[in-house]
Amino acid sequence: MLVDNLEKINQEIRLACQKASRSDNDVTMIAVTKSVGKEIAKELAELGIENMAENRVDKLLEKKVALESFSSIKWHLIGNLQRRKVKSIINEIDYFHALDSLKLAEEIQKRAEKQISCFVEVNVTGEESKHGFKSEEVLDFIHQLADFDRIKVVGLMTMAPLNASEQVLHEVFSKLKKLQSAVNNQHLSYAPCTELSMGMSNDFPIAIEEGATFVRIGTAIFRGA
Ligand SMILES: *Cc1c(COP(=O)(O)O)cnc(C)c1O
Repeated sequence: MLVDNLEKINQEIRLACQKASRSDNDVTMIAVTKSVGKEIAKELAELGIENMAENRVDKLLEKKVALESFSSIKWHLIGNLQRRKVKSIINEIDYFHALDSLKLAEEIQKRAEKQISCFVEVNVTGEESKHGFKSEEVLDFIHQLADFDRIKVVGLMTMAPLNASEQVLHEVFSKLKKLQSAVNNQHLSYAPCTELSMGMSNDFPIAIEEGATFVRIGTAIFRGA
């Protein structure tokens, strides 16, 4: 089942890339394992999945220990991170996708032992319930990170609104792409901002058409498994 689901997802990724005249090498699928246990995560690793994500600190640490023997796995923390938990996780991950405040950046700067690849989270539609900076705040925030030598802004991340129409999804993802280009065009050494973390099970083909370089996929991998 997992194999079939993964094959189907890969095919959809290839199709979306073709449609957008992009190379499928430019899109990395991250498997979001928050809804499954470590046994299934292990199966994924055995099938060659090398990018794994969790949205909770304790669960990521638990999976990482269970999958210790797969040394090439890259670990992504994709969920909101509380400042008091930074210390326990920041040196265990390869990417952090939810940098959403200066206070959190300060804590990461204090606790990280090496430079951490971070995505700045953007709340493109300005929904009240969501984490992340408003689009118009992003450049200012990134400029404030100039002296934070432990933080590298590799890209921007967003979560599209639930149940949005295809048109709205295209708009949200293309806005994030424009913002990413704007940051990238500043040529800041600490913020290359070449990546776009956007697209989940229900909307990843649209995100890829609009420029996603990392898609975060959970449900679609485990359907029926
Ligand atoms: C759960 C989660 C995903 C994956 O969502 P699916 O709809 O299951 O693919 C992606 N990103 C974040 C931040 C998540 O919390």
